[in-house]
Amino acid sequence: MSPFTIGIDLGGTNIKAAIFNPDFKILVEKSVPTEAAKGPDHVLDRITKTILEMIHETRISLVDIKCMGMGIPGLLDPQEGLSIFSPNFPDWNDIHVVNRMKTFFNFPMFIDNDVRMNLYGEWRYGSGIGNENVVLITLGTGLGSGIINDGKVVYGKTSSAGEIGHMNMYREGRPCKCGSSGCLGRYVSAVGMVNSFIEKLNNGRQSIIQEWVGKDQSSLSAKMISEAYDLGDEVAIEVMHETGRLLGYGLSNVINLFNPEIIIVGGGMSAAGDRLLSVVRETTAKHALKLSNQACRILQAQLGARAGMIGAAVYANERLKIMETH
Ligand SMILES: [Zn+2]
Repeated sequence: MSPFTIGIDLGGTNIKAAIFNPDFKILVEKSVPTEAAKGPDHVLDRITKTILEMIHETRISLVDIKCMGMGIPGLLDPQEGLSIFSPNFPDWNDIHVVNRMKTFFNFPMFIDNDVRMNLYGEWRYGSGIGNENVVLITLGTGLGSGIINDGKVVYGKTSSAGEIGHMNMYREGRPCKCGSSGCLGRYVSAVGMVNSFIEKLNNGRQSIIQEWVGKDQSSLSAKMISEAYDLGDEVAIEVMHETGRLLGYGLSNVINLFNPEIIIVGGGMSAAGDRLLSVVRETTAKHALKLSNQACRILQAQLGARAGMIGAAVYANERLKIMETH
């Protein structure tokens, strides 16, 4: 029985890859620039090369690889191994990722959405261990999400269920890439929070952050807002609270719909921690159904940037098990 699993987290900026032993401990890991602008063939070549390098360095043989999982952002068909569209990857349309990789490797391979891979990772080895009703949201450039309901990951007809980030919060709000406007992720995300902050500055509000960035608002970050919050900056506190409240309203709907026992908040902006989450909890306590809210904890993710790789490896093993029992 081949004991090792490869987990890959394909991001717009970096390809993160690791080989795991049967206990999902990392034997070797690598992070290389994706170079997405050079097109799909180039990206897939880089993944192949990274895998071969890891195998070489660990001195294991290709036949010792049991399976591989890969998380890819955007729309995809996990059954077909097809990546339909990925917003940060130019010319990335209907790419048969699994078929193409199979020309190099013959171990079983599985792909799924990157946020769902994070969800698998946090569920099996992070904040979600032992729970059967789990919601994960990732706060980065947008708001990604995945849902486990009664022990099963929710997919829906087109594998696009659970898009909490596109929940409509305002009838006519900020435009969203999805074609709608007023989506939660346009406000509750690193980019969204920065935009809220800039709106206030443009309305004449004064913040310590202006001293840090000068006239160059493009260098303003969610991390700076956290730092200004800690210094008692009024605008930063206001933006953090407004962002937390809006997320609280959104998650009240999620709690009422799915009755989760844990909502895990991950992604870069989750570093804001309780600055954000205390307001989220206050809001869901007021607006979600009492019984459901009392059963639900809202916590930070534990695995950080490795969640996607670990989740991809876990996912591949679970898919393989399902395949072998059918
Ligand atoms: Zn949207």
